[in-house]
Amino acid sequence: MMQSVDIAIVGGGMVGLAFAAAMKDSDLRIALIESHIPDSELQELSDVRVSALSRSSESILRNLGAWQGIIDRRAAAYSAMEVWEQDSFARIEFDAKKIAQPDLGHIVENRVIQLALLEQVKKQANVTLFMPAQCQSMAMGESEAWLTLANGQSLTAKLVVGADGANSWVRRQQDIPLTHWDYGHSAIVANVWTQEPHDKVARQIFTPQGPLAFLPMGGSQMSSIVWSTDPSRAEQLVAMDKEAFNKALTAEFDARLGMCEVIGERFSFPLKMRYARDFVCERVALIGDAAHTIHPLAGQGVNLGLLDAACLAQEVLQLWQQGQDIGSKRNLRSYERWRKAEAAKMIAAMQGFRDLFAGDNPAKKLVRGIGMQLVGQLPGAKDEILKRALGLKGDLPNLAKYPQSSPQ
Ligand SMILES: Cc1cc2nc3c(=O)[nH]c(=O)nc-3n(C[C@H](O)[C@H](O)[C@H](O)COP(=O)(O)OP(=O)(O)OC[C@H]3O[C@@H](n4cnc5c(N)ncnc54)[C@H](O)[C@@H]3O)c2cc1C
Repeated sequence: MMQSVDIAIVGGGMVGLAFAAAMKDSDLRIALIESHIPDSELQELSDVRVSALSRSSESILRNLGAWQGIIDRRAAAYSAMEVWEQDSFARIEFDAKKIAQPDLGHIVENRVIQLALLEQVKKQANVTLFMPAQCQSMAMGESEAWLTLANGQSLTAKLVVGADGANSWVRRQQDIPLTHWDYGHSAIVANVWTQEPHDKVARQIFTPQGPLAFLPMGGSQMSSIVWSTDPSRAEQLVAMDKEAFNKALTAEFDARLGMCEVIGERFSFPLKMRYARDFVCERVALIGDAAHTIHPLAGQGVNLGLLDAACLAQEVLQLWQQGQDIGSKRNLRSYERWRKAEAAKMIAAMQGFRDLFAGDNPAKKLVRGIGMQLVGQLPGAKDEILKRALGLKGDLPNLAKYPQSSPQ
């Protein structure tokens, strides 16, 4: 049977669901197609895939009604950040109190964000969930896209939103070219117990092999780590026995929190920069990792993606209210210009950090030390960096403005 909708969202991860939730007050008919149903049971031990949510992401999630569902499930606020370089004087600290903020953000399991958003989307009468379902083919007509699912169902939509992650099926169907390069790193993620409490401080050390972040989780001695290093070393670290891994991790982190002990599984992900040459084409818009992926060293990937979702929603709702075609490439250009510029700035910043902190060339080391000291001492420089990282500055969509509705 053929179902006709206004928007088909392919991918019900954090970003696709946020876009669906942003349509809550409209009469647009939405189909959301997601291949996996997330398990709603949380284990005592946190999932290893977590995100550091910025203030702008928090505002988006509050305005979508999903924030309380996140807090009720599990989230850890962090109030300060420390970044330093191994064997050098380079070091910088950020404190929420200094900029009159209650915290600098929250560390949340990706699945918790997904479940809280899904809970909201399920309440929307204008959304039909196809879950689990897989897209099989897409064809373009004059004023509609035609989608066929693996179970034989068919859909027509005025706009297809590709929110289907780094290896986006939608992007490949449309042959949208991709600019990409390897960061030469894989990231190991795991839960780690530390001898000393983390005191709600997010910490990151830069070593010649790459950055290692300890993100404070709910228990005072539990952290989630993101350890970026060259892929062959990452493979060895994941394969080695726990005791050897604990020793290597403690040494790499300068024993800043005493002895470390990995709890549960370790996973490693190859890190690649991806930037779709077009974020929109006729009847298609890309958001989140389908449009761009970046190095996790500043923890900005999903924060960028949630902003994509909020910006696209704002543009689409405006077009709809004006009675214009929501799927025409010409009409979606302003979304593309807005988000391509923001993603490009972030990619350049990540590459700058990646290059600046790579290796242990003494001249570079000196620049890094002086740079961090200068940022720490120049009046306003640190606050400026922090406000940008929090998502309190920049060209923000309405949903990211805090608070649009009263906080829950
Ligand atoms: C190690 C690591 C650490 C990170 N840490 C942070 C951090 O601290 N902060 C941060 O902001 N970001 C972080 N990121 C980035 C962040 O995880 C991603 O940006 C985020 O997961 C992207 O969300 P998404 O919804 O766009 O894509 P995804 O999470 O990949 O979701 C895509 C969804 O689409 C579905 N799908 C795919 N293909 C199809 C199809 N054909 N049909 C139906 N469904 C389909 C998938 O099942 C999936 O649910 C990190 C990334 C890595 C690798």
